[in-house]
Amino acid sequence: MKMRKMLILVGCVLLLGCGGQIADQSAGDGNPFFATYNTEFNVQPFDRIQPEHFAPAFEEGMERQIAEIDLIVGSPEDPTFENTIVALDQTGELLAEVSRVFFALTGSNTNDELQQIQKQMSPRLAAHRDEIQLNKGLFERVRTVYDQRAELELSDEQLYLLENLYKRYVRGGALLDDEDQTRLKEINQRLSQVRVEFSQNLLAETNDFMLIIDDGADLAGLSDAVIDSAAGAAARAGYEGKWVFTTHKPSMLPFLTYAENRALRQELYSAYTMRGNNGNEHDNTKIVAEIVNLRVEKARLLGYDTYADYVLERRMAKNPENVYELLNRLWDASLPVAKRELVEMQAIIDREGGDCELASWDWWFYAEKLRKEKYDLDDNELRPYFKLDNVRDGVFYVANQLYGLTFEEIQGLPKPHPDAQVFEVKEADGSHCTVIYMDYHPRESKRQGAWCGRFRSQSRVGGTEVDPIINLVCNFTRPSGDTPALLSLDEVETLFHEFGHALDGMLSDATYKTRFSSSDFSELPSQIMEHWALEPDVMRQYAKHYQTGEPIPDELIEKITNSKYFNQGFNQVEYLAASLLDMEYHTLKEPLDLDVNTFEQAYFDRIGLIPEIESRYRTPYFAHIVGGYAAGYYGYIWSGVLDNDAFEAFKETSIFDQETAQRFRTKILEVNGTAGFMEMYTDFRGREPEIEPLLRNRGLQ
Ligand SMILES: [Zn+2]
Repeated sequence: MKMRKMLILVGCVLLLGCGGQIADQSAGDGNPFFATYNTEFNVQPFDRIQPEHFAPAFEEGMERQIAEIDLIVGSPEDPTFENTIVALDQTGELLAEVSRVFFALTGSNTNDELQQIQKQMSPRLAAHRDEIQLNKGLFERVRTVYDQRAELELSDEQLYLLENLYKRYVRGGALLDDEDQTRLKEINQRLSQVRVEFSQNLLAETNDFMLIIDDGADLAGLSDAVIDSAAGAAARAGYEGKWVFTTHKPSMLPFLTYAENRALRQELYSAYTMRGNNGNEHDNTKIVAEIVNLRVEKARLLGYDTYADYVLERRMAKNPENVYELLNRLWDASLPVAKRELVEMQAIIDREGGDCELASWDWWFYAEKLRKEKYDLDDNELRPYFKLDNVRDGVFYVANQLYGLTFEEIQGLPKPHPDAQVFEVKEADGSHCTVIYMDYHPRESKRQGAWCGRFRSQSRVGGTEVDPIINLVCNFTRPSGDTPALLSLDEVETLFHEFGHALDGMLSDATYKTRFSSSDFSELPSQIMEHWALEPDVMRQYAKHYQTGEPIPDELIEKITNSKYFNQGFNQVEYLAASLLDMEYHTLKEPLDLDVNTFEQAYFDRIGLIPEIESRYRTPYFAHIVGGYAAGYYGYIWSGVLDNDAFEAFKETSIFDQETAQRFRTKILEVNGTAGFMEMYTDFRGREPEIEPLLRNRGLQ
């Protein structure tokens, strides 16, 4: 057995030098991860990957990486940048490959088998990471190279990699004594377990609730398209002839916005805000409390005051004070705006003889009325112009105008889910750039939200060019009957947003595989794309009526532009409340006996959150802070400062100014993850970011 593993290892190391691919035919009993893929563009053979392939591939991947690390540590040569840092960057290719596929599928196409594997593998993977992170021989070699860095004549990219890699080891506990390292490993293991429990609970809670309507009168206010799709959902759920609404946003939001039956709005919205908080087997309250406390302990162990100090040290924001300064300033500016919105909506209720105080489940309903009244704008009037295919082509158009990219749909390529579309992206000169999968609609096997991941990251070590493969996933309104998918304005902006992440991945131009990203910077490439979505000249290109093909009329464009400030108080307040709550949890200095519901309510009372607005996420379903956005949810607004200021650079010239686009590409998109955040920004903008464009664009001045 040992002998066979050694042979595999040698084969792998040799191949990494020349091809970078996993091509060991002997290791696997038909497991696609152990063989050459033989697919076009070397995409993953999703059609051949079965759940039972993951565990052996994970195990083999971990074993190979440990063996690769042992080779580095056992090298008789003195440590150098090449034989230590570059070599380390190259380890774990199989593990990375299987992880990318596995975690993409558990997000967008999961099932009981995958969930079971996820539960089993998560602590194993955490232990594996710790084994490398806390490998003393390896750290000594990294430290030796790090200590010599001034004499090594490294490029900027190499120096950035070295410094950050060294720091990663220190932050992973390399300098701790044995006892503390043991405790750190236990904490990491436990965190990895409970994080999986949290997300599986949340998925179950989201799927468990259905609002089943059997009296047509309860559909009053809803459009035919919404009613049709609720009938479709009912049929799929085995309730033929009825209508079903769920807490998935494409189902819930139209109901909250248009359904006249107030009691049913309350029932649906309460089901949404109570997810993970029902005292049943999927309750997340104790899990989050445990996570928060484990993080406090981890931060203290590593020498930080709080978990936020630990996280933010490596972010553009640098420390909690800077985050609070921005959030508090925006909170103070936004809360009065939201209160004014509330007064305006209450006036509508009173005028209509509604005889009730506006509650949180009424906000969408009356906000929509207010929008009609003030701006004469109706979401239903817009949707026909936002056919999904047209919006997607609009996104492609912007990418083409900015960077010369072209897009061609490919048939016959294996896909992570049959519903996904797949495109080849080419550069202006016709050369291959990337493959992108786009998977648009909700289903039970998919978690909520929209995101953009990578099935492969770009790199170029030793002259071997590895092209990226991008995976964009959304939860947009489905087609219904003969009607194609018609998006809301919000969904349009979301597609542009996620495509900005896609561009960040596809235009990356780095030598090494290791990236150091930061959630307060990584929303710059995505959020800046949202600006193009609503530019009149761009809308005229893509927003064409799905039946007549007529471009969106100027008066509708004008209404959209005029309504830019609509509901901004609400949008800011619900977002900032969640961001502040995230910071409040992660600036705790001591573990507490936490009842998260009490903690959350006491905090919101203290900052003056009005009861008519719920935080965008309540604790038991705040997946961001359980995952990678802990002490990081503020990043969207931090990036908001950046994207508004950066887009001004286009407005100062023209929205498709080639020189500015080229600068954004080379100074930000190509180097993101391999250079300092403020350096990238100032290289692009010629100065540090300013907050005024954000305040102006959101009506907060
Ligand atoms: Zn994003």
